[in-house]
Amino acid sequence: MRKIFTDFPIKGTFALSADDAHHVLVVLRHTVGDRLRVTDSEGATYECLITAMEGHAAVLTPVQKISDGSIRNGEVILAAGLLKGDKFDWVIQKATELGVSRIIPVQMRHCVVKLNEARRRGRWERWNRIAAEAAKQCGRDDIPPVEDVMDFPALVQTYQSRRFVIPYERETAPFHAVCQDLHHGDLVLCIGPEGGFAEEEIQYASTHASWCHTVSLGPRILRAETASLAALAIIMYERGFK
Ligand code: SAM
Repeated sequence: MRKIFTDFPIKGTFALSADDAHHVLVVLRHTVGDRLRVTDSEGATYECLITAMEGHAAVLTPVQKISDGSIRNGEVILAAGLLKGDKFDWVIQKATELGVSRIIPVQMRHCVVKLNEARRRGRWERWNRIAAEAAKQCGRDDIPPVEDVMDFPALVQTYQSRRFVIPYERETAPFHAVCQDLHHGDLVLCIGPEGGFAEEEIQYASTHASWCHTVSLGPRILRAETASLAALAIIMYERGFK
C-alpha cells in the first residue's frame, strides 16, 4: 500500500493533506473507523484511526506507535551534476527507491544545463514532489530531501569532513577497492554531468575533502544517470540495503 507521510510530528489528532485525503477516501475508499499507517516528519510510524471525514478532508487520531523510524548506517548523499531534459527526474525517482538519504543537484563546469533563479525554484519544487511520490510508492519510512542546486566547490566545502566517493571516467582503480570503507558512516557519492568532470574539480575534491577516492565503473563510459544508479546500488548493497 502507498505510504502516507506528514510534514509535521504527530502529537495528536490531525488532518491529512488534500492529496493524501483524496487518495485515502476516493481512490482507496476508506471511511470513518478504518485504520491507516502514517509516518511523520521525524520518521515515527503510527497506526491511526479515521475519526472524521468531510467532503475530501480526513481527520485521523493516532492509536498506537508502530516504530520510531528506521535505523540507518549513516547518510548516503547523491551529489550529481545537472542533466538535460527530464533525466534528473528519473535519477531522483530511482535513487529514492534505492534508499538514498539526500540528493544534491550540482552545477558543474561541464554541465550543459544552467539554471537561473526562477527555473531553480520550479525544478526544486518538482524534484521534491518526485522524491515524495517515489517514497510513497516504494514504501520507505522517509522522504529524501532534494536540496537547492549547489556549485561544486560549495559542495566540497560544505561536506569536507565526509567521505567522498567519485566515479570518474578517467580512473582505472576498481570500485571494489573502496567497498570495505562504505559499509557505514556518512558518504557523498559524486557523479559528473553529461560532459564529465573537469580535471580541476577532481583536484579540488582530492585536496579539500578529508577522504576522497575516485573509482572506475568499468571500461565502458556510462550515461550519467546510469552511473548514478549503478554506483548507488553498489553502495546500498554494501550496506545491506539499509
Ligand atoms: N563526457 C565524458 C567522457 O566522454 O569521458 C563522460 C561523462 S559520463 C557520461 C558522466 C559521469 O558518469 C562521469 O563524470 C562519471 O561520474 C560517471 N561515469 C560514467 N562512466 C563511468 C566509468 N566507466 N567509470 C567511472 N565513472 C563513470
